[in-house]
Amino acid sequence: MLDADFFRRWMTATAASVHREADRLTALDSPIGDADHGSNLQRGFTAVTAALEKEETDTPGAVLVLAGRQLISTVGGASGPLYGTLLRRTGKALGDAAEVSEAEFAEALRAGVDAVMQLGGAAPGDKTMIDALVPAVAALGDGFGAAGTAAERGAEATTPLQARKGRASYLGERSIGHQDPGATSSALLIAALGEAGG
Ligand code: ADP
Ligand code: MG
Ligand code: MG
Repeated sequence: MLDADFFRRWMTATAASVHREADRLTALDSPIGDADHGSNLQRGFTAVTAALEKEETDTPGAVLVLAGRQLISTVGGASGPLYGTLLRRTGKALGDAAEVSEAEFAEALRAGVDAVMQLGGAAPGDKTMIDALVPAVAALGDGFGAAGTAAERGAEATTPLQARKGRASYLGERSIGHQDPGATSSALLIAALGEAGG
């Protein structure tokens, strides 16, 4: 079972890898964006960890709703509302249970990813974070390790795609040949589940 502590560790581990990989995320956002993805997420996850230290969260749902709210209010870029919606909707789907099973979490994360697709209008293959998140949700039944691998492969598979959503889509065919920064950060988010442990 996964408790509020597990979800706090997930957010802390994500913050750590976002800080570690910030330069790489910003570099990926340079040829097909505006070179701010790493700094956007650093600002967002710094706010997430600060809020989790300050405010009491005693359920998995409360942890994710608080984290999502921080991302929405502190990240200016497109990724803030999208990641914020992902976490908030996942948290809401978990309700107020003190512990959730891995299957319940997988189901809730699916609802979160669906909400991101609805908000941003992106489908798989549009070269966005969705290309890492959808395969991750599909693999989650096989464990966090499998989900991490699927997200990583999904992110790598964005390289030959032409962007159809977000800033990169303005480049048309010139967006081809670059890995999507948001799919790359989504792979970090999913990999952090493994670091948070079961
Ligand atoms: P901005 O483009 O506003 O500077 P970021 O650089 O922080 O925001 O985030 C860019 C990432 O957001 C992209 O690499 C892509 O993965 C994701 N993204 C942008 N628009 C959408 C969308 N409509 N749906 C899903 N993901 C999107
Ligand atoms: Mg950007
Ligand atoms: Mg920007």
